[in-house]
Amino acid sequence: MRKRIFKSIVGVTIFSIVTLNLLITLIFLNIFSNEQTKNLELECQIFKSAISDNSNYNSISALHQTSSRVSIINISGDVLFDNKTKIFENHADRPEIISAFETGRGSSKRFSQTLSETTYYYALKLDDSTVIRVSNTSNNVFSSIFDTIPYVIGIIFVFIIIALYLSNKLTKKIVAPITLENAYMYDELLPFISKIEKQQTYIERQKLNHNQKVEEFSTITENIADGLVVLNTKSQIISINNKAKNILGKKNIDYIYKDIISLNRTEQLKSSINTAFSGQNAEFVLELSSKIFSVLVSPITFNSEVCGVVILIMDNTKKFESEKLRREFSANVSHELKTPLTSISGYSELLKSGMVQEKDIVRFAENIYDESANLINLIENIIKVSRLDEAQNSFEFSDVNLKDVIISITNRLQNKANIQNISIKLDLEDIVYNCSDHVINEIFYNLIDNSIKYNIKDGFVDISCEKLENNIQISIKDTGIGINENAISRIFERFYREDLSHSSEISGTGLGLAIVKHGVNLHGGTISVSSKKNKGSEFLITLPL
Ligand code: ADP
Repeated sequence: MRKRIFKSIVGVTIFSIVTLNLLITLIFLNIFSNEQTKNLELECQIFKSAISDNSNYNSISALHQTSSRVSIINISGDVLFDNKTKIFENHADRPEIISAFETGRGSSKRFSQTLSETTYYYALKLDDSTVIRVSNTSNNVFSSIFDTIPYVIGIIFVFIIIALYLSNKLTKKIVAPITLENAYMYDELLPFISKIEKQQTYIERQKLNHNQKVEEFSTITENIADGLVVLNTKSQIISINNKAKNILGKKNIDYIYKDIISLNRTEQLKSSINTAFSGQNAEFVLELSSKIFSVLVSPITFNSEVCGVVILIMDNTKKFESEKLRREFSANVSHELKTPLTSISGYSELLKSGMVQEKDIVRFAENIYDESANLINLIENIIKVSRLDEAQNSFEFSDVNLKDVIISITNRLQNKANIQNISIKLDLEDIVYNCSDHVINEIFYNLIDNSIKYNIKDGFVDISCEKLENNIQISIKDTGIGINENAISRIFERFYREDLSHSSEISGTGLGLAIVKHGVNLHGGTISVSSKKNKGSEFLITLPL
């Protein structure tokens, strides 16, 4: 546009300059020619009056002094006098002569190509029926013009430069954007301006409205706990909250109007989006950096047309993990129950068949009794774990003297300790703590029981309980068999028992420490273990005050 305008202005200007120059030259030529003819006529008149007084041409000095050529010709065309030459040609055929004899005057000009000169003639009929002709040769006016060409070109060049400069300025001015501020200068634009202004106000209001809605929407989406992405029909992201960026992409990248594949390119997401665009909901599970997300992809419909897709990403790691734990727990429970039941049923079957010798009956009955006790213990523990699992808030809290609890438990376990000659040393502060009496008993019973169970003959158990500034610390330390380093992180898992050979030697369900861990958590406390194989272990509980 700008180029075209510029070219047009420059074209018109150059055309004008050249045409003007040509016209001026032509006018100048015409004036020059007329001027020449007029001068010759004047000279003719002067010579005519001189001749009328004196017919002796040679004696008329004026005829000799003039720079013009003066000839006198009779009706036959013979030259009677010529002030410049002695060679006389017949002039009867010269147009100016013919015209002079016919009308009294005549003029003409002739151009000599060889000399590149133009000769102007003027002829006047005298009273004696002869004709006086005055002629003047001027350098070819074209050659004069030719001489001026460099100047003319120079001037044209200067003018063209000025024209270019002005055209450029003018073009800029013409194509300068019409803003509402300068548009008032153009009357023709006034109706448009008022329309545009109205539109602008309307758009501004709409924009404000839209911005408010966007802000409201982003405040809502930022405050929801899940990741949220909204796509338009081209699968471009038109809204994304930080949570979704954190899960699927990078926080500092602007994903707006980028394709969804810039955020996540899994096949599942792609096909779920396609399903959503076909008008149906889709759902899948996404595992990313040890987390498990449920991804819900739903269509957004307007006037029963799908105009976008919303993707909701929910962090369900905990849910999936607890489901996994529950599944494992059920499998373990079935397995653990099966072992004692199989023995009980085996021994009972033998007794029932009457094939057992008299002396073995008591031993068999004892085995059945022990396995039943194990079974009852196992079932009790399963119930405890399940209770702690399901009913976190249903435990009653009351003020309990921890020292009393520990002393009572050690008393109950004293016989067991005596069998192995294990000494229990207590260092207990009198601390009253608001807790679940039942759960706190379970915690200490399991830990002290383990410290005896997994101890060595003539071993020691040190139990201390002290009140610090912000918490209570209870340590149960033994000089027992210790725990393998790689097993330490697993001993709190349900049904985990460190070594199978031990499990057959030392009875247990593998649920004790799981109950302890749950119980400590219930009170907002922590439990840690330090242990060395064949040296002993220390369980340290911290309960908040
Ligand atoms: P269990 O019924 O087998 O005692 P627990 O959950 O109480 O189940 O303990 C899990 C495992 O942790 C035990 O099988 C044992 O291997 C190990 N363990 C627990 N306490 C001690 C301890 N004081 N000394 C050595 N090993 C221990």
